[in-house]
Amino acid sequence: MTQVDDRLVRDMVAKVLEHVQTGWGGRVGPTPGAGAAPPISSGAIVADPMAGRTSAGSRFGQFTSVDEAVEAAATAQRALVRRSLAQRKIACDLIRQICRNQADSLGQMEYEETRIGHPPHKSEKLAMAADVALGVEFMQTECFSGDHGITLEEHGPWGVIGVITPVTHSLPTLANNAINMIAAGNSLVCNPHPDGKRVAAHGAKLFNQAIYEKLGIDNLVCVMTEPTIESANEIFRHPGVAILCITGGPGVVAAAMKAGKRAICAGPGNPPVVVDSSADIENAARCVLEGASYDNNLLCISEKEVFVESSVFDAFMSAMESVGAYRLDRRCMDELARICIEPNVDGGHPRAKREFVGAEPHVLARQVAVTVPSGCRLLFGETDSESLFVQAEQMMPVLPVVRCETFEQAVDLAFQAEHGFGHTAIIHSRLVDHMTYMGKLMNTTLFVKNGPGLAGDSLGGEGYGSYSIACSTGEGVSTPLTFTRMRRCVMVDNLRII
Ligand code: NAD
Repeated sequence: MTQVDDRLVRDMVAKVLEHVQTGWGGRVGPTPGAGAAPPISSGAIVADPMAGRTSAGSRFGQFTSVDEAVEAAATAQRALVRRSLAQRKIACDLIRQICRNQADSLGQMEYEETRIGHPPHKSEKLAMAADVALGVEFMQTECFSGDHGITLEEHGPWGVIGVITPVTHSLPTLANNAINMIAAGNSLVCNPHPDGKRVAAHGAKLFNQAIYEKLGIDNLVCVMTEPTIESANEIFRHPGVAILCITGGPGVVAAAMKAGKRAICAGPGNPPVVVDSSADIENAARCVLEGASYDNNLLCISEKEVFVESSVFDAFMSAMESVGAYRLDRRCMDELARICIEPNVDGGHPRAKREFVGAEPHVLARQVAVTVPSGCRLLFGETDSESLFVQAEQMMPVLPVVRCETFEQAVDLAFQAEHGFGHTAIIHSRLVDHMTYMGKLMNTTLFVKNGPGLAGDSLGGEGYGSYSIACSTGEGVSTPLTFTRMRRCVMVDNLRII
């Protein structure tokens, strides 16, 4: 009996050392002096080998009770902050690896459950969600050094973050949020869209299993497996949830803002494009096709309506046909709009009908008795600026194009169509004056020149990306720092070594 115990103890010590060494990047951490707090990474593992596990054992983030989910996420978060940054990076990298290595099967699962968007883009979107997200490398410390010593400003975690994800990218948003939030030292409880709940729960299970096997922490990413509006509201108001991160349309943003706690809101957009008379028309058409057709126009940053100066209108329409978009006549555009869009719901903006969101172009064309060539990725056609397709965030591959007398009129109509969401706007122009004029007036979070809207979120443009662009509350493209609180550490009259 004693021998077995000895072996067990030796195995445990070996495992602990392995963890500690990984945590310190291969180097053994310093021994603390008498009375000092235990070193960050080793302390947690020795003191709490069950870190993040609930009394019910391994849950791997699967919950039907908000109270239990928040409790488990809080336990996991307390364990996480006792580990090194290197270990946080390991957790983030495990999520990235799962998104990349299992992109095909998870993407297919997402499509089979949600039934929206273009299947081949599902896996790509998941892998990209992992690739574009910033991790621990983005955590920064600001320092002030002077006669009165040293002051550090550090970005600390909030604790448990309540997360809402959209049906348009269920698992990609969860993965992307999880990487940012864990890098910053938080855990999360997610209420996914009910139509994307299974893939969200399955993804969370894979993430938690991998993290638990490597680091011994379970439930960093908790998901409500039966999400409802009620469970969302419970998360919004739960005292154990420190802040909220909301990605969705106007209804959920409004609901979260009433919750009485800070909400980082990545709300709706309706990105307009302006094409002026100086633009490279072929490039404009290629970019518009790429952006508006991607995943059947589900992305919030994708082109939703185009305003073209009349002198280049015909050339632009021809260029769109040349790049493979299918032109519908005005009657078909108006008819399709009546079929696919609900006008002015509750006094708000027109809204896409759920059954047509993310539908394939040939399915939409069939509604107006049009057959499009196989491989067609986008329908487009001339409308006036009041068209339901212009005013609604249609999230389907049908693009309205409006003829404008002047550049200024095009920008005014673009401004009106964006509805003040402050999300994304795009211009195709060779004139810097025009770019500046439109950029100032639109006042959007992303303003893209001469590329597809996707480039604004680093998908073909420079910089980093996120699947939660907090346009509604102003934090912008989210990063780990978005999910931190500023803390100050002050040493008075000492430690300045110069
Ligand atoms: P949606 O608003 O219908 O649902 C989003 C989420 O909110 C879902 O989980 C849903 O269950 C929940 N929800 C909806 N109403 C709620 C309420 N009253 N109380 C609590 N929870 C509620 O949106 P969707 O169709 O899933 O996603 C598309 C929308 O999300 C578009 O408007 C798009 O622009 C936006 N979006 C924005 C970003 C961004 O980064 N800004 C990214 C992706 C999607």
